[in-house]
Amino acid sequence: MTSDAPVPHPFSGVPALDGELCFDQGALDAASADFGRLVRERPAAVLRPGSARDVATMVRYCREHGLKVAGRGQGHSTNGQAQVPDGVVVELGALDSIEIRDGSAVVGAGVRWSDLLRATLTEGLTPPAFTDYLELSVGGTLTAGGLGGQIGRHGTQTANVTELEVVTGEGEITTCSATERPDLFRASLGGLGQCGIITRATLRLVPAPRTVRHYVLMYPTVEAITAQQTRLIREGRFDYLVGQALLTPDGWTFMIEAAAYDGAAADDARLTDDLGATSVEVQDVPYFDFVNRLAPAVEGLKAMGEWQRPHPWLDTFLPAAVVDSVVSDTLAALKGNEVGATAVILLYPVLTATCTTPLPVLPDGDLVYLFSLLKTASPGADSAEEMVAANRRQYDVTRAAGGCFYPIGSVPLTKDDWIEHFGPFWPEFEAARHRYDPAGVLTPGQRIF
Ligand SMILES: Cc1cc2nc3c(=O)[nH]c(=O)nc-3n(C[C@H](O)[C@H](O)[C@H](O)COP(=O)(O)OP(=O)(O)OC[C@H]3O[C@@H](n4cnc5c(N)ncnc54)[C@H](O)[C@@H]3O)c2cc1C
Repeated sequence: MTSDAPVPHPFSGVPALDGELCFDQGALDAASADFGRLVRERPAAVLRPGSARDVATMVRYCREHGLKVAGRGQGHSTNGQAQVPDGVVVELGALDSIEIRDGSAVVGAGVRWSDLLRATLTEGLTPPAFTDYLELSVGGTLTAGGLGGQIGRHGTQTANVTELEVVTGEGEITTCSATERPDLFRASLGGLGQCGIITRATLRLVPAPRTVRHYVLMYPTVEAITAQQTRLIREGRFDYLVGQALLTPDGWTFMIEAAAYDGAAADDARLTDDLGATSVEVQDVPYFDFVNRLAPAVEGLKAMGEWQRPHPWLDTFLPAAVVDSVVSDTLAALKGNEVGATAVILLYPVLTATCTTPLPVLPDGDLVYLFSLLKTASPGADSAEEMVAANRRQYDVTRAAGGCFYPIGSVPLTKDDWIEHFGPFWPEFEAARHRYDPAGVLTPGQRIF
């Protein structure tokens, strides 16, 4: 089936599809944009698949006709990662089935985490690990890694997947897991869409808490916050732990958000008295509202117009040994106009042992820190181009300090940078790419191969 717009050459020969191949301006415009609003590449067609079979048909067709193709979840990339100039974008939102069985969720790759959580909660279950924002697709975050405040207990989202259905770059529908085609499994989770398009995922579930006791603790310095975060994540005192640097009229201040699940009767004094915070706020929140607590802030950003502006984001990982010096130096040099009026600066610890998939790449060491500069090119701030150039400079600082980046942001990289980024995993990753996408048709927007 095709949309009403005229079918351009060479798509007149596309085999029958369960879904729809679209050529209308609306579909092409939407697939040319993403959350970053930095890159705008127009595809020739957009597939709204009715099945995994459609994805396979389209990948084979693209391969035979010299076209590139990429999956698109919710388009929350910031640097054109899901865009395909003159090729085909596969809008995976149509693959939205959710089945809960035997303590797992079997979901179409286009399902959003918010919808998955609503469905699992009806069974008293939850995915163990979330991103901060729930309106991202399962396939999109599994392609990146999927990090959030549960990482100390449960690792990345990729660490909580037991099986994937993947359409390879040869247009084959295949399943993979730790024991079946493990090379494809390892190169698909966090693999930036280079070896296949994920069409279905089987995800581990755990019993869901009903309520969350949410703590907000404030600190005056980088050293003060990281000392407590390092201790807390090693002790496993909380079920959830993140942090932020906040720019106030008086300078930088630092915030830990920690949570105890089903902690209405928690002993607040035992949990927080020895943490040296300058202030502590405590609140009980229903579990869904806690996990989804970014939603009201997003509505506010949309109303302000900030959500619609360019977002030259940079996410990095730093070894614990250098986090204080790199973060202090970076923040001391940073002026508000370099990150925009509504920037979010994340700073929280990651235990590498819980992140059991080879990707995303993390620095060496049992403990590393996520340090993210989530910028918005607000009116009066630096231009988006200046922010991207600053991201590259910060990337170089990070590399020199033994860190690496989380590849969801906006950093101009060369092929050599990518090889350096993947490090010891590069030979395995490159071999999987050549095995599963020998013609190199998949996901050109990542600019790796
Ligand atoms: C507001 C916001 C908050 C965020 N918070 C977090 C966070 O807390 N933690 C975190 O880890 N990340 C976070 N991210 C980053 C986010 O996880 C990634 O950008 C993710 O890839 C976006 O998912 P998406 O569905 O929008 O993917 P898209 O932007 O649509 O796609 C991203 C990339 O994956 C590819 N892709 C998409 N679906 C598939 C698939 N099924 N199979 C193969 N390839 C596919 C695309 O081709 C593209 O290269 C956040 C992003 C935003 C905008």
